[in-house]
Amino acid sequence: MQLCIVVPCYNEEEVLEETCGRLLALLTTLTATGQISPASRICFVDDGSADRTWALIESLAGKDHRITGIKLSCNRGHQNALLAGLLTAEGDAIISVDADLQDDIGAIPKMIEQLTRGADIVFGVRSRRDNDSVLKRITAHAFYRLMNWLGAQTIYDHADFRLMSRRAVEALRQYREVNVFLRGIVPLVGFPTAVVEYERSQRLAGTTKYPLRMMISFALEGVTSFSVVPLRIITFMGTLVFLITFGLGVWVLYVRLFTDLAVPGWASTMLPMFFLGGVQILCLGVMGEYLGRLYQEMKARPRYIIEKKI
Ligand code: UDP
Ligand code: MG
Repeated sequence: MQLCIVVPCYNEEEVLEETCGRLLALLTTLTATGQISPASRICFVDDGSADRTWALIESLAGKDHRITGIKLSCNRGHQNALLAGLLTAEGDAIISVDADLQDDIGAIPKMIEQLTRGADIVFGVRSRRDNDSVLKRITAHAFYRLMNWLGAQTIYDHADFRLMSRRAVEALRQYREVNVFLRGIVPLVGFPTAVVEYERSQRLAGTTKYPLRMMISFALEGVTSFSVVPLRIITFMGTLVFLITFGLGVWVLYVRLFTDLAVPGWASTMLPMFFLGGVQILCLGVMGEYLGRLYQEMKARPRYIIEKKI
């Protein structure tokens, strides 16, 4: 069984060597116990880093033949970098793991075991989040809950630490969307799946490449590329508002035609106007969000461009 470990790296010069050392050690043990073949590889994907990341990958690859690398032509974001690695990597099974090793690579043997038992996709799931900041914990949990409520079947507390068999990766290749949200797409691929739990630790070194701004954009990406529920909410809201204003209209007509009380009120004119204005703008906003995605998908631009390969 030939394994390939895909590691997306964006400005990770501080952790790269340590990560590489640990992954190589793991490959050595797994090869020695016969769980994986000696042809197994590590594939670092440099996501257009501005620091020495690519130079490091090249020098590491020079020292050990088990290290390979892909350099993207510019920064395309975590998900695209990951996809580039997954779709380029060779091997019977591919594991993706972040460069900062927050995900415990000690779980990898268990993942391989699940694979031999017949699972095509093995999700790494965090059993605890003690090492994440409070903000990250709260926002992450809110995010998974929102996603599931909206009907996208994400695996709770599963990030992008997973094993995929060759046929699962080939199936993934057929998903041609431009707004890549792997956590949502991979469960759609199907095939037998399994879950392996692990404890998430601190970043080895360096700082997070996912500031709040990126987290929000990631969450928006996830929601809008997987769910039309927001659109349905608009329809629902629109219906409700229509019914209410219709009722009001009937009442106004009644007052006007059948009573002497009809002093046309300023409030009853202005309030609905403001209210409808607000609702319309809100609706336009959400529709624009989807239209934006549609536009991007229609253009079908390449999701990544590989500049070099070693
Ligand atoms: N990453 C990437 N491209 C980006 C941002 C991040 O390839 O534009 C990689 C990064 O090098 C790391 C992984 O994605 O291997 C996860 O990023 P990070 O650990 O900073 O996110 P966090 O764990 O804080 O959510
Ligand atoms: Mg991290």
